[in-house]
Parts: sequence; structure tokens; C-alpha cells
Amino acid sequence: MAAQGERSYRQMQQEVPISTNVSENNYVQCVADYVIDVLDPSIQSRNQWEVTVFSENQANAFALPGGKIGVYAGLLDVAINQHQLAAVLAHEVGHVIANHGNERASQNAIRDASVAVAQILDVDDTTIEAIEMGTRYGLFLPFNRTQESEADSIGIMLMAEAGFDPEQSIELWVRMNSDGGQRPPEFMSTHPSPDSRISDLNRQMVTAKSLRQTANANGRNPDCVPGIASPR
Ligand SMILES: [Zn+2]
Repeated sequence: MAAQGERSYRQMQQEVPISTNVSENNYVQCVADYVIDVLDPSIQSRNQWEVTVFSENQANAFALPGGKIGVYAGLLDVAINQHQLAAVLAHEVGHVIANHGNERASQNAIRDASVAVAQILDVDDTTIEAIEMGTRYGLFLPFNRTQESEADSIGIMLMAEAGFDPEQSIELWVRMNSDGGQRPPEFMSTHPSPDSRISDLNRQMVTAKSLRQTANANGRNPDCVPGIASPR
């Protein structure tokens, strides 16, 4: 799976434009580094973590088996601070470390892909093209609800352990959901309803906040500064 993840990732890097905006890249890398840094060493070393910012105007991100993370530049318009970006990245890292890619590969890929494509017909052509490319690589086949909830739970703890504000994960999902027709495929069809996702996160908030306090007290105080966005 890791080898397949890497192949898809390289292919995508060749075919989808990559952001050349240095401050944007540094910002995303900075947040990713903080999140990856708190992973258990055995998990950290099992994956070759890498982050790429693609110049696509959709609010999306993905992670492939092997630790290859992709962020679409449009995400930075919805995840508006380092804490919200950390919530997305930690969620994606959660999919990788819970091995959801393996589980997903055994599902009926063609059926899932056609569902995914059918459900985004109200978005613009560029987005459809990007999604078709994504489904071709097997990147955006929807995870199921259980996997999404699991990635949320792992994500909120990870971001907090890294020193980010876990309450911003709620803000993020509220913003994602108010983004209407732009709702990205990874967060689309099978995922928990916004309300249940938010109440699940709230249930874990006390624990997450105490993890964050400890992280901050131990000197983990992320200071990633959003760059000047490229015109999109
Ligand atoms: Zn997910």
C-alpha cells in the first residue's frame, strides 16, 4: 500500500500544478511538522512523511498510505489559522496511522468512485477534473463514517498534543459545512453529519484541552504564520 501511495503521489505531483508560493509552502510544512513530531516513534518511522501544496482552488486535503499528504491551496481559504489547518492535517494523519487506506482498498472501488463523481456534479469543471483525477488515483474514494470518526478522534488528540487549540477543530468543521457547494469530496458523502461530528469532538474536548495545556507547558507552542496567499 505504501508503494502504491507513493506512486499515486508522484504521478499527481507531475500532473497537478504544485504551489510555488514559498510562504504558503513553508506555512503548511510548519503545521505538518508540529503534528508529525508528536507521533509515536514507531509510527513516525514506518512512514516517509511528505507534504505537497497543490494549486487547486478547492478546500481539500488527502493522505496516502506511506505518509504522503496533499493540501489543496483552496483549503487555506477555509482553514484560516494554524489551528484549523492542524485540525485537517491531523485528521489526515489519523487516516494514515489507522490504516484506513488498506481498509478502503478492499472496498468496491469502482462503485465508490462513481458515487463520488456523481455527487459533485454541481461544482465547476476544474473541480470535477481534479476529482476525476483523484478518483483515478484512488485518492478520494470516500472513507466510511466509522473511519471518519476515528480520524477525527485521532486528529483532535494529535493536534492538541502538538500544542494547537483543539477548539478550533469545531470552528473548522463549521466553516467547512457553511462552504455549501464547495464541500470537498473527502468530507462529502459518507461522512458523519456536521452536527454529530461536532458533538463527538465536543465530547473529547476536555481531554484534548488538557493535552494541549501539557504540550504548551512543555514548550510546544506552534508559531506557524500564514503566508501571503497566491491569487486564485
Ligand atoms: Zn477523513
